Amino acid sequence: MFLEKQFLQMPGPTPVPPQVLRAMSQPMINHRGPEFKELLEEVTTGVQKIYKTENAVLIFPAAGTGGLEAAVVNFISPGEKVLVASIGVFGNRFAEIASKFGAQVEKMEFEWGTAVDPAQLADRLASDQAGEIKAVIVTHNETSTGVINNLPAIRQAMGNHPALLIVDAVSSLGAVDMRTDEWGLDVVVSGAQKAFMLPPGLAFVSVSPKAWAVAEKCTNCKYYWDLTAAKKYLEKGQTPYTPAISLLTGLRESLKMMQAEGLDQAFIRHARLRDMTRAAMRTLGLRLMAADDIASSSLTSVYAPEGIEANKLRKVVREKYNVILSGGQQKLDNKIFRVGHLGWVQPLDIVATVAAIEMGLLDCGCSIELGSGVRAAQQVLRS
Ligand SMILES: *Cc1c(COP(=O)(O)O)cnc(C)c1O
Repeated sequence: MFLEKQFLQMPGPTPVPPQVLRAMSQPMINHRGPEFKELLEEVTTGVQKIYKTENAVLIFPAAGTGGLEAAVVNFISPGEKVLVASIGVFGNRFAEIASKFGAQVEKMEFEWGTAVDPAQLADRLASDQAGEIKAVIVTHNETSTGVINNLPAIRQAMGNHPALLIVDAVSSLGAVDMRTDEWGLDVVVSGAQKAFMLPPGLAFVSVSPKAWAVAEKCTNCKYYWDLTAAKKYLEKGQTPYTPAISLLTGLRESLKMMQAEGLDQAFIRHARLRDMTRAAMRTLGLRLMAADDIASSSLTSVYAPEGIEANKLRKVVREKYNVILSGGQQKLDNKIFRVGHLGWVQPLDIVATVAAIEMGLLDCGCSIELGSGVRAAQQVLRS
């Protein structure tokens, strides 16, 4: 049943290219020595280029959620008010972390499948004359629904409000354009296992000068996540604690691949994978969760047809065709499936994925025309 090549079409972890796997199988080096210094400087500069920032970027051994926690404990003090604009599971997670660490969280929720309305955000911030809100927290790409937020519009909606803008860009950075400095993003969190084509285990956090000033006065509890300490070490080419050396050598390789493709080309590729997936699903008569203008380039959320359990379809597609799709999270469980198309994914992976979904739909008793979705995807690819 288990074929050697699995199509891992999930929004993380994503497939890891062989050259990255090879780069990770190197002997250990001294993390306080000159080779490591060179490695850390090279990957930090490389990641800054993807962020389009001059800000410091700290790299930690952690899941992406660790990066979210770092973004809370370094910049938000207990009792401070923060505004979390949430459009799904990951927005809610950020709110929960802030709340656990003592922030007064005000959640502005938008229906799942929609994006943050910048006008509503602008109204709320305009009414905060006293500047009580210390930070605005948003998810760039909401992985639970497949919706991308308009960060420049969100930044603009903040106007002159002094709050920090803190962004979860774990599933967007590298797949879509991110202009940290131009857009005025204070803290941006990302991670290894999505567009960076690495195994899980690295979190990235960029910090603006304005955010460093806040960090100096922040009274929240932290030890491992002390970004000020990490910055001091970075300046001498080290990390405060033992780094994930193998993942960093992998990162050096994946950054080389990203540079060789070119960022703009990568954005075009991801958008095309999105368009292929959406055209195919629509042709098969399936309903998409996100509207065209807010559709994610990283993943597509699709409703299972009426009367068909999404998880049953996923199981058939996995067992018979070796294609791995993600399920819906929380209230979307068994209602949607999510097709990941970020990182090391090429157009024909999507053609194969669509072919498997078509066969899975037939296997589940759904009447669709075999090959119609594949053809729609091919037409997008050739256009
Ligand atoms: C994947 C992801 C994370 C991090 O998830 P971990 O499991 O902690 O690595 C955070 N935010 C978003 C939007 C994500 O897609």
